[in-house]
Amino acid sequence: MTQNLINAIEKSKRIKMSVRYLGQRAYLVITPANHQYTVRFEMINGLRYGRCTCLAGSKNLACYHLPKAGLVDSAIQTMTAH
Ligand SMILES: [Zn+2]
Repeated sequence: MTQNLINAIEKSKRIKMSVRYLGQRAYLVITPANHQYTVRFEMINGLRYGRCTCLAGSKNLACYHLPKAGLVDSAIQTMTAH
């Protein structure tokens, strides 16, 4: 893992954001400042890839919205796996 990603994960734990499932593995992340970003996940060769519509995400940088949505995505995938 890169330091960027580790920082992003730590930040995602500190900041309270709400996540709404939009369907098709897309999530709406709402920050405390009421910014809204869409995070989408897709599976490529068995690995999960996420993309965020925020400025960092559009530059392919690790942002803190991604790990937050990832937690919800993992929970949903676990529930629907049965
Ligand atoms: Zn983001």
